[in-house]
Amino acid sequence: MVTTPHEPPVHPAHPVYVIGGGPGGLAVAAALRGRGVRAVVLEKSDAVGASWRAHYDRLRLHTTRRLSALPGLKMPRSFGRWVARADVVRYLEKYAEHHELEVVTGVEVFGVERSGGEWVLHATGGRRLVGSAVVVATGFNHTPSLPGWPGMEAYGGELIHARAYRNPEPYAGKDVLVVGAGNTGAEIAADLAGGGAERVRLAVRTVPHIVRRTTAGWPAQRTGILVRRLPVPVVDRLGAVLARVAAPDLTAYGLPRPDTGLATRQRQGAIPVQDVGLVEAVRSGKVEVVAAVEGFEGGEVVLADGTRIAPDAVIAATGYRRALEPLVGDLGVLDERGRPVVHGARCPREAPGLYFTGFTNPISGMFRELAIDAEKIARAIARRAARATKATKAAEDAKTERV
Ligand SMILES: Cc1cc2nc3c(=O)[nH]c(=O)nc-3n(C[C@H](O)[C@H](O)[C@H](O)COP(=O)(O)OP(=O)(O)OC[C@H]3O[C@@H](n4cnc5c(N)ncnc54)[C@H](O)[C@@H]3O)c2cc1C
Repeated sequence: MVTTPHEPPVHPAHPVYVIGGGPGGLAVAAALRGRGVRAVVLEKSDAVGASWRAHYDRLRLHTTRRLSALPGLKMPRSFGRWVARADVVRYLEKYAEHHELEVVTGVEVFGVERSGGEWVLHATGGRRLVGSAVVVATGFNHTPSLPGWPGMEAYGGELIHARAYRNPEPYAGKDVLVVGAGNTGAEIAADLAGGGAERVRLAVRTVPHIVRRTTAGWPAQRTGILVRRLPVPVVDRLGAVLARVAAPDLTAYGLPRPDTGLATRQRQGAIPVQDVGLVEAVRSGKVEVVAAVEGFEGGEVVLADGTRIAPDAVIAATGYRRALEPLVGDLGVLDERGRPVVHGARCPREAPGLYFTGFTNPISGMFRELAIDAEKIARAIARRAARATKATKAAEDAKTERV
């Protein structure tokens, strides 16, 4: 359970508002409830787990079932080791129900401001909600991001962001260009290749690190957890050795080994690609690796090596923006990349009571980190609330004595 018996329940005057009903927000709300702190989750869509409802059909967690469970509820064994997307959604629904979480759906928060010692949230329908603390859990992958490719606006062909991709059916017999070789691009390319597309090309700007999901039963995620706290140069060297032993050399197919280390890349925001079919698809020629996209011209896609191609469809797996600026941009709590300056139990100095979860991209698995941060945030908020309750009581006692 999420309850900590040593900490008595605390009841601040206003609830803690958690913005976002994904795994991050739900985990914090459950951990808070376990400590007797009232938490209200505000979710803009009509149900919890909106991101997971919208992901492509074949997606499975590439982190293990056990290492992806949120505080206070295991994932059932029947989900298997690599949990399917639909089961993740089921789990999140069950999670909210099991912990009896207060989730208000259909409410989007547009802005957060500090007023006196409290937090004011401006939300759908002109709502003005007052909270004792706020946890922002609106997601690392919030808003689809397309590079500002020249000629993109005038391009007449089909061009979608990976968020809109569901399955290969609409692309049967078609020539498709997938742009971006992160986990999403790699998996969509393999999905299309196995799902009847006539031709699949993968445009690669930065060669990714590719790791096996498991080696002799040992999940890559466990290695990620073990090396997480080691110095970057050590992990870079270790990653290079492991890659030589465990990952095939795809240089001949246009995917040489990266010259920047695995941990250095992760620091820059790119986690390694977990292979769920790309390696085989590339080796068998079902996915062809091509140069990065430079722009669009006259109905064609122009690649960085000067080649021009005319695919039937372009699927841009080019990432997401955090899009936190409208929400908290005025508070001085974001860095130059638009990410929060703190995460977990820490609040920005100028914003006590404002917490963030889910804005890092660790190699140890995001669900796992969301679970860890949820406990830390709940502990910090409960302590803060207990201190505030104590101070109020002391003030009241002093008043009574004077009377
Ligand atoms: C394709 C893909 C595969 C992944 N696979 C794994 C994996 O295998 N293992 C792993 O550990 N991690 C994985 N992740 C990373 C991460 O675990 C997930 O993205 C996870 O859903 C993050 O949870 P979250 O709660 O932080 O954000 P989200 O799940 O994105 O939830 C954010 C919620 O906030 C809501 N929201 C946003 N803005 C507002 C607002 N202003 N007001 C109210 N509500 C708002 C959204 O509707 C959404 O429901 C994957 C990510 C992607 C994109």
